[in-house]
Amino acid sequence: MIVMKFGGSSVANAERIRHVASIIQAYKEERPVVVLSAMGDTTDHLLDAADMAVNGTVDIAKVEKLHFDTAKELEIDVPAIKELLEELKFLLTGISMLHELTKRTRDYLVSFGERMSVRMMAAYLEKQGTSAKFYDAWDIGMVSDSNYMSAELLDEVWDNIPKALGDYKNGKQKEIPIVTGFIAKDKNGIITTLGRGGSDLSATMIGAAMKADEIQTWKDVDGILTTDPRIVKEARPVPEVTYEEAQELAMFGAQVLHPRSMIPCRKTGTPVRVKNSYNIKSAGSVIVEKHSGETPRVTAITSVKNVSLIDIQSNNMFGACGFLAHVFNQFLKWNVSVDVIATSEVSVSLTVNGKTKLEGLVEDLKRGADVTVKSNKAIVTLICDASHSSSILEDAFKALHEADINVQMISQGASKVNISMLVDESQANDVVQILHKALFK
Ligand code: ADP
Ligand code: ASP
Ligand code: MG
Repeated sequence: MIVMKFGGSSVANAERIRHVASIIQAYKEERPVVVLSAMGDTTDHLLDAADMAVNGTVDIAKVEKLHFDTAKELEIDVPAIKELLEELKFLLTGISMLHELTKRTRDYLVSFGERMSVRMMAAYLEKQGTSAKFYDAWDIGMVSDSNYMSAELLDEVWDNIPKALGDYKNGKQKEIPIVTGFIAKDKNGIITTLGRGGSDLSATMIGAAMKADEIQTWKDVDGILTTDPRIVKEARPVPEVTYEEAQELAMFGAQVLHPRSMIPCRKTGTPVRVKNSYNIKSAGSVIVEKHSGETPRVTAITSVKNVSLIDIQSNNMFGACGFLAHVFNQFLKWNVSVDVIATSEVSVSLTVNGKTKLEGLVEDLKRGADVTVKSNKAIVTLICDASHSSSILEDAFKALHEADINVQMISQGASKVNISMLVDESQANDVVQILHKALFK
């Protein structure tokens, strides 16, 4: 049994859906469970529609047109999609009347994208003579906490999924399951989402719980690349990546995988293959526990923009250990998560997402320290074998020095697979390009 996950770009229109259906049919013997994202940019369009509704306008023309045109072109009639679109309009009308949108309502609203795409694909496969059955995530027991927009799946999912899909695995059910990615329900039956890009996590969760032979995530690139191809066009596929490297890569900004997607498959050791639905011949990348040969010196380079740097200098009120305790207690109190950190006995530099509201935190921190906040920074991370850090940094800093770029902070992660540098946001793309040239010869 395998899991095949297709992202939005892989199912963006009728032609892509036909193509993906043919890929699914080619893997039929391997008993795939299919996980789908919303078609194309539907999730973004739904979020835009939500913002418009808050301001009083109900408009889902783009989403409606894409789904109606696609069904027409595929020559299928899917009444379930029409019903969902009606429900969506009701919801948007409600939002437009209340001028209010909670995270919970946003999750409900955005769930329509995945729910429509699985209905579309199942109907098309059936029309092609391949038995298929669509499932909303909760039909197979995807239960999460109530942290809307970034929900965590609950442990019971490990038992629920094999129960729900057991008959398919043992051959009693012949219809290929087509399951929504990204969404779940909490214990109260309220729809949640797993965070943007969450279909990767849905797929790895299903694959791990079902003890699948392999989890495939089909994208629009030839696998995990040495860096973001939108920044460096020479970026090339990395044939083999470890779970740990993939996790760091995702955490430090590579859009290609959801940051938490490696957690379930790492537990079971289920291999994940990242493939290109636009170029099925390319081998893609495989994600496994350990490198089969030597660990590469550098695997990939990632970057995150819109980062703020907080410099905190102790005024000696607390003593050395008391100082760090004071600092972290304040971060806990204000629920602000830290990405990269560098410390000395009396000062600490930390980075946080630039969107974070910092007024209260800074005010509290100032009770024991001098605090400065600098925004418009970026973190550039080398996913690498940090046991070669000196030679990697020698090459990296030589190239940056030649380009007259100064790094403002540097930190080596505890996982020993990342080295992060802080630079001005305006220089981030240059830094990635320079480092890519220097480190991938
Ligand atoms: P999907 O919707 O199929 O999950 P995403 O758009 O979420 O696909 O992720 C794939 C995109 O991630 C690529 O099109 C590419 O632009 C971007 N990307 C950024 N960094 C990397 C990387 N290191 N390797 C591959 N793709 C990357
Ligand atoms: N459709 C969702 C998003 O755009 C989930 C996903 O694509 O993985 O974020
Ligand atoms: Mg994605």
